[in-house]
Amino acid sequence: MRAIVPVAAVLATALALAGCATPHLEIAEPSDRQKAEAETALKFTAVGPPRNVAADRMVPTVNRVLRRVRLASHAVCTELKLPEERCKPMLESRVLVDPNKKDINAFADGNDNVGVYGGLVRHMGTDAEIAGVLAHEFAHVMLGHVEKKTTNALIGGLVLGVLTGVASAAAGSQDQRPVRDMTKLGWEIGSTAYSPEMEIEADRTAVYILHKAGLPLTALQSALVRMSRARAQRSSGAFSGTVGFLQTHPSDDRRHAHLISAMEDVRAGKPLKPAKGK
Ligand SMILES: [Zn+2]
Repeated sequence: MRAIVPVAAVLATALALAGCATPHLEIAEPSDRQKAEAETALKFTAVGPPRNVAADRMVPTVNRVLRRVRLASHAVCTELKLPEERCKPMLESRVLVDPNKKDINAFADGNDNVGVYGGLVRHMGTDAEIAGVLAHEFAHVMLGHVEKKTTNALIGGLVLGVLTGVASAAAGSQDQRPVRDMTKLGWEIGSTAYSPEMEIEADRTAVYILHKAGLPLTALQSALVRMSRARAQRSSGAFSGTVGFLQTHPSDDRRHAHLISAMEDVRAGKPLKPAKGK
């Protein structure tokens, strides 16, 4: 029974830490009309065929849009009045393209680097779609989501580890191995994916970046629709890789409705709004 106190303390700490991970932006929930439009867009938006960019053309392909995305991301970061340590990586972070990775994916790491899988470059239909994905990853870096994700993963590991420890103690077990294993599992659960709220925040920021870069606002939406089509093709055997992006960057109708809302706000000239108290 003594174990109850540490568990309560850990849960309280976890909740307090999770509180730090509140979004930076003020975002209204999409309307029913926007939700309906999102459903239609996911089903019916036309996307052209993948360009099947050759391995030796992948780096130049990403480089064609990278500088524009960097400058626009830095401008958006400055307008949001985020600290310089958040804005500087927009210009200085390393962007690595690995032509050998066949999956459709991209990520930002804890050191503010952005990684792009060859499969993503190969499958996108336009430079703008690649720019949309880059803008989304830069937004995760800008908004500090990678650090937050690590914190959330730490919380997952901590809570699961302690709870398993309690279960083992109650059963009179002296074996600490299940505690360590569950701690590891907690890390994996916590670090597999961004939260839907982080995705929504990164997408909205990306749409503003695309606008600032003079690229089509629909580029990220089109990239996401393309990925969900590729995932559907995969189940029918037409595409053999994985669409890892949709696993680490969860996507659903609500996310698409938020994208539509972000595009409408940009077109209406509404600025990106930091959340109150930030
Ligand atoms: Zn994401």
